[in-house]
Amino acid sequence: LASSSISSGLHVIHIAAEMAPVAKVGGLGDVVAGLGKALQKKGHLVEIVLPKYDCMQYDRIDDLRALDVVVESYFDGRLFKNKVWVSTIEGLPVYFIEPHHPDKFFWRGQFYGEHDDFRRFSFFSRAALELLLQAGKQPDIIHCHDWQTAFVAPLYWDLYVPKGLNSARVCFTCHNFEYQGTAPAKELASCGLDVQQLNRPDRMQDNSAHDRINPLKGAIVFSNIVTTVSPSYAQEVRTSEGGQGLHSTLNFHSKKFVGILNGIDTDAWNPATDTFLKVQYNANDLQGKAENKESIRKHLGLSSADARKPLVGCITRLVPQKGVHLIRHAIYRTLELGGQFILLGSSPVPHIQREFEGIANHFQNHDHIRLILKYDESISHSIYAASDIFIIPSIFEPCGLTQMIAMRYGTIPVARKTGGLNDSVFDVDDDTIPLQFRNGYTFLNPDEQGVNGGLERAISRYRNNPESWHELVQKVMSIDWSWEFSASQYEDLYAKSVARARAAASRA
Ligand code: ADP
Repeated sequence: LASSSISSGLHVIHIAAEMAPVAKVGGLGDVVAGLGKALQKKGHLVEIVLPKYDCMQYDRIDDLRALDVVVESYFDGRLFKNKVWVSTIEGLPVYFIEPHHPDKFFWRGQFYGEHDDFRRFSFFSRAALELLLQAGKQPDIIHCHDWQTAFVAPLYWDLYVPKGLNSARVCFTCHNFEYQGTAPAKELASCGLDVQQLNRPDRMQDNSAHDRINPLKGAIVFSNIVTTVSPSYAQEVRTSEGGQGLHSTLNFHSKKFVGILNGIDTDAWNPATDTFLKVQYNANDLQGKAENKESIRKHLGLSSADARKPLVGCITRLVPQKGVHLIRHAIYRTLELGGQFILLGSSPVPHIQREFEGIANHFQNHDHIRLILKYDESISHSIYAASDIFIIPSIFEPCGLTQMIAMRYGTIPVARKTGGLNDSVFDVDDDTIPLQFRNGYTFLNPDEQGVNGGLERAISRYRNNPESWHELVQKVMSIDWSWEFSASQYEDLYAKSVARARAAASRA
């Protein structure tokens, strides 16, 4: 049954707060685009619904046009009009919702971090479902992501199935359990959900603050399929240490919960075609990689005196999850070990941003250290290409994309063994792992000794054993990080869920 629904192709609609490259804060944006494209390639009809933010990269959207229809959606006891725009991004049909609400929900100059994010995204979740209903869509799968569109799951079953939008199974992917979007319970009423019914321990009530609603928990309870972005992280969040308060909920719903490692968009991240690079290169022609190293050193004013000086890169959001104190330590340790370091990162946390600005200023004209404290897609490509080593000392890491991108560019990761890093980086010195899988350096403890151990071993091999380093670089560049395999796993989950629903319907 499962394979027959695959062969006819499924209709999958993602409702999300991000999509690369037009509206991207982190990995979520990459996943929506990457998974969407991979499923489309497999013959499924994939559509995306996004908010129409003022701060999107409009230069990456070619054919944006407004539809004639106006969709009215409920909020705070009345109906509001939404203008709907459509476009094709990376070959995927995308709908953008522009609410005509006096609070100008998506006209804030930033994607998240507003005082009324709960209202902004509960409004959007409801408007997105209203769009599907009014457009007469009959999807097989509605796939929502993270707390921002977690509202879709209870809204779908409680309000939209009764209205006739009833063809779909709901899949929810949590990209990071740290962000749960809790709010005072009464706020849930704005989008039309029944607070009395839902503020219960087995539904949406937060597991520790009983007067609060937890949208993430709601999506776990109300979705047919719940996924997170790596098998190791899926295990970690089922423990009291890693579950951010939701481990008991996840354990209760464990039958529908699974971890699937993300892929990367291997078209966008391809050193052989990457137009952001000074020189394109591939595993058989690593001279190009060396030229990119030379070029970024010049561009950033770093010393080029020694071509074989190891260059360590780091590209990250500077938030506690990423091990900011260990990143800071790695900068100093790299210098002591005779390397160079480039950090590209920005922080939504003011004291962290200030701290790194201090370090950036300190090293402003330094020969070997440069900190670039902003979000910059173009420089990120150059850093992946130019670096020899890439450091990722995360405290926890749901999946992590940077280790995969780094390897695609022939840059060897030094990563903490946690979450998706544990599923994708395998230590070259670990005899318990088959040789063919070993691809980088890992360390277990999230402390300075851990970082030192990884960095020292990497730098030592780079310096003392250039031939084996070269082989390692070639090897990691040939690993397949594409969405192909992960998308097949989602396809399988979707198909089985749809088949189960059809079987149940035919029995009824
Ligand atoms: P997260 O989603 O937690 O931020 P991931 O590793 O899953 O971490 O995804 C990070 C993505 O964001 C990668 O594509 C990385 O290249 C990109 N990125 C992070 N910080 C920056 C930055 N300052 N400039 C450009 N790209 C960045």
